[in-house]
Parts: sequence; structure tokens; C-alpha cells
Amino acid sequence: MSSVSKILGFIGVLGVMGSSLAFVLFAGKEVSTVGLVEPVFAVAPERVELRALNQDATLGDLLVGVLDANDQYSFVLALREQANPRRLKPGTEVAFRWLTAVPTELRAVDITLDADVTVRMTPSLGGWNSHVMNTPVVTDTVWASGEIEATFWDAVVGNDRMERVDPRDRAKLFMELNDIFKWKVDFVRQIRPGDFYRFSFERAVRPDGTMRVGHVLSAELVNQGRAYAAVWFDPNGDGVGTYYDENGNSVRLAFLLSPIALRYRVSSRFTNSRFHPVLRIWRAHRGVDFAAARGTPVQATGNGVVIERVRESSYGNTILIRHSNGWTTRYAHMSRFATGISVGSRVAQGDVIGYVGMTGLATGPHLHYEMRVRGRPADPLAIQLPAGDPVPTDQWGVWEVQSRVRLDLLDRLPLPWNVQLTMNVRTDGDTPDSGAR
Ligand SMILES: [Zn+2]
Repeated sequence: MSSVSKILGFIGVLGVMGSSLAFVLFAGKEVSTVGLVEPVFAVAPERVELRALNQDATLGDLLVGVLDANDQYSFVLALREQANPRRLKPGTEVAFRWLTAVPTELRAVDITLDADVTVRMTPSLGGWNSHVMNTPVVTDTVWASGEIEATFWDAVVGNDRMERVDPRDRAKLFMELNDIFKWKVDFVRQIRPGDFYRFSFERAVRPDGTMRVGHVLSAELVNQGRAYAAVWFDPNGDGVGTYYDENGNSVRLAFLLSPIALRYRVSSRFTNSRFHPVLRIWRAHRGVDFAAARGTPVQATGNGVVIERVRESSYGNTILIRHSNGWTTRYAHMSRFATGISVGSRVAQGDVIGYVGMTGLATGPHLHYEMRVRGRPADPLAIQLPAGDPVPTDQWGVWEVQSRVRLDLLDRLPLPWNVQLTMNVRTDGDTPDSGAR
């Protein structure tokens, strides 16, 4: 990045340090007075030997020479209460924790099933015990901003002020921003050097700095002097929120422009009369054909309910979705339906409903896609697509309060780098060292 964008790149993390410090001070102790003391580094009472399961070493192999046959049996029995010992993935980390005072004695064995779950095995008089330790997470709110020099992607993922955010997590956040602003701005054709972005996001972060979950709370993209704002809001309170502009209008359209997200080519357009390649007669083509590789995922273009899931002689595997305000969309010639999709299924915009194929009358793999408005065929490539639903009127009061708080987060951005604020911080999960001692 150039010096210009370094100056313009901001990042703030709310209160992570503050909260962990407080945790250490208060953990399990009764104190009459509290003050800051220099940290004391005790000698670890254990030696940790880290090994991994791979093609050459199974869990059994790792235990040979460490535990005798009886102990191994008891160990596996206890582990089975939390996980299937035969299904541990290659690469699973196994940490043997030896007591330093008695070097031949195991204090515990930790088996890391995934980034969020570790099974701790502890020896007892009767054999072995097991319990699950959830990786602790700290929930915080982070914000970032920067100037775009070349591409939006480079400006976000390459923002070196976001050094505390794992690069893969930056990519995830970019995908969210992409999804928020793609409706208003064509990132390939309209982005100009000097465009500017800022956003805030909430995340649950593990001790290693990676994110368990995270999502954008508010964002702004200034493109060619025009600002587009977006605020996350969850009108039903079920965790499935969406983005609205500062006036409560949806940032998205009610329909995606294409039911195929990956590579495709429009092979046949909407027309009232064309020569049918298979039937060899002239007839109307009241839809659009998207040629794509067999197996390419097909997305529902809008929220709705599946009202037909059939295999027709000419259209092959076909799905019909009913949307609000009298709109329907039809998807035909699919090789197969996505699992879980049946008549009555509720689908959200972007949900995969099936896969491109050539069932029915088709000369090659393609998706035949139709839109109708109150029964009348419409050309998906020409029609003015309706906007997504605005904030529901019965939620307007909640929206006004929440959107103000989230938009205000953006106004923190012109502050210097070392912002020292403590708010919105929550911890849950186990402490890193809970369990046997
Ligand atoms: Zn067609």
C-alpha cells in the first residue's frame, strides 16, 4: 500500500485488552482492594508435548508407550463420551501435558477436534475422564476504513491497519461488503481511485485472533463522490438480518440479476418467437437460457416458497417459486434438486435449489429461467426489478434506535489509531486453562 492509504487506513478494536486484564484480576479471588500490578510469570508446572494424527499415526499409535493397555482402553472409553475416536480427522492435534515435578506422569491430554472444541482427558484413580472445553471467544466491535487505489478487494483485504484481523477473515468481511454494495455499484466498471470505504463489524474472536463469527454492522462506500450507507438490522429478531440504507430501504433488489453466481453465458434470450432447436418449430421463448457447466449451483433469485418441484417431459427437473406481490420464478432442465428442497420449502434469496443439467428437451447443459408478474411472462434481463422490502413499519421504533447506534460507529473513524474505548465486550466459553490442575 502507498503512504497515502496508510494514512487513511484506520482500525480500532474496542476494549479487548481491558476485558482480559479484568478477567485475570478477578478470577476466583476475593480482593478487598483492586489495583494494577506488574504481571507475574509463573513457571509452567507442566511440559507440553504436541503431536498430530496423520496417515502414519493413529490415536492408538500415539498412546503406545505412554499408556499401558488397560489405561489405553479406559482412555478410549472416556473419549467416546465426547467424540468418535475412529473419526478423528488427520491433522488433529493431541497435546500431552506432563507434570514437570513428576516427568513420567501425565496431567492431561488435550485433543483439539476443531478450532472451537477441545476434549480434555484427565487421569483419575478409576481410569480416565473426559470433558469438552469450548475455545473461549471475546465478542468485540471493530471498525476499519481506507481509500481505494485500485480495487475494492485490495483496499479491504490489503488494509494493513487490519493486521489484528486474520487475512482469511478479512476476505470474509470483503465478501459481505461486496454483497452489500454490489446492488448500487459495479465494482469492475465504477470504482475510481480515491473512492473511500468505512465499516464496523461485530465478531467473536478466539485467543489466536481468528474469528468464529463476524458480520458487518454498518458500512459506507463513497463512490465517485456519492455515499452509499448500509446498516444491518434483524427485523424478526431471529438472527437472520439484512441491510438497509439510512432511510430504512433495503440495499438489495427483491431479485438477483441471475440465478447462477458462477460462470455462465446467456445462450438464449426472451423472445415471443424463436426456432426451437429440439422441437424444430417456431415458438415463443418466455425465459432466458443460462448455459453453464453441468452441476453448477442454481440459486433462488428471491425470497419465497417452493410451490412446484416436478420432472416435466419438456422442462425436465423444474422448480417454481412464489414470491411476494404476485411474482413467480421458474427454473428448468436441472440435473437434480438440492437436498431439502420440496413443495412448501421457504427459500431465501441466494439459496441453492438445484444444479444445472439438461433434463427434458435440451441440447446442452443450461438453466431455463422464467419470471412472471401475476401470471404474465416478463423478460428477466429487461424488466425493472423491484426493491427488496423496507424495514417493516411495526419495527420502525427499534430500527431508529439501532440504526443510529450502528451508523454512529462509522463516525468514530476519523479518530487516531490508538483509540482507547471499552464497550460492547462480552466473554463466553471456558477459560483457556480450566479443567485439571
Ligand atoms: Zn429456455
